[in-house]
Amino acid sequence: MSMITENVAQIRSRIAAAARAAGRDPADIRLCAATKMNDSAAVREAIAAGVDCCGENRVQELVKKLDEHAYDGAPVHFIGALQRNKVRQVVGQVDVIESVDRRELLADINAEAAKRGIVQDILLEVNAGGEKQKSGFLLKEFPRIVEEMADYPAVRVRGLMTVPPIGRKKGDNCRYFQKIRRIAVDITAQKYDNIFMDFLSMGMTDDFEDAIACGSTMVRIGTAIFGPRNYAPVKSD
Ligand SMILES: *Cc1c(COP(=O)(O)O)cnc(C)c1O
Repeated sequence: MSMITENVAQIRSRIAAAARAAGRDPADIRLCAATKMNDSAAVREAIAAGVDCCGENRVQELVKKLDEHAYDGAPVHFIGALQRNKVRQVVGQVDVIESVDRRELLADINAEAAKRGIVQDILLEVNAGGEKQKSGFLLKEFPRIVEEMADYPAVRVRGLMTVPPIGRKKGDNCRYFQKIRRIAVDITAQKYDNIFMDFLSMGMTDDFEDAIACGSTMVRIGTAIFGPRNYAPVKSD
């Protein structure tokens, strides 16, 4: 077994254990491979090992790997910071844009999707820690932002996503995950016509078990699948 295959199996069993400990069905938690800085061969291995989707951060990498058919057989999510001038390259090319973190981006995605005659699935990114340097909707902007979604008919909200503050110790991020879960429960109770909360994209290599305990329905795992990333200077897109 290759390292990636072995890692995916190991994470699956950790997901299952965390789900059971929380009284949840392991099948309710999707595993998204965070593929940034890993090449098409590695991505193909992860898909063969059975990850549920791939999450890409950089448009340049996304375009290259799409071109190389790296994601064949798995849905693709965009999970990185998205610049407005790159929206054209992402809308209609991925199944879900998870990192929708501001209104201008919503408007641009809506316009591009409308132009193409499609409805783009998205997640609203939540800045749960209220960090100044980070984008994302603040907790207090809900449910207002959800009500505004009627203005963006070519966009369909499928849930919420968060990258919490870097936790200093285990369990630190639980309160953020819980707050987001609470918002999702409230939104679901409101029964908006075209808003779904089937994706709660929370949890990464260091905190996915906590996220599952707090209601995550999708974890995004990079390091624990592919190994440490090599942060040598990379040309930014
Ligand atoms: C890189 C990345 C991940 C995965 O992080 P790991 O700690 O390597 O598991 C998840 N989500 C986003 C948005 C990322 O950029």
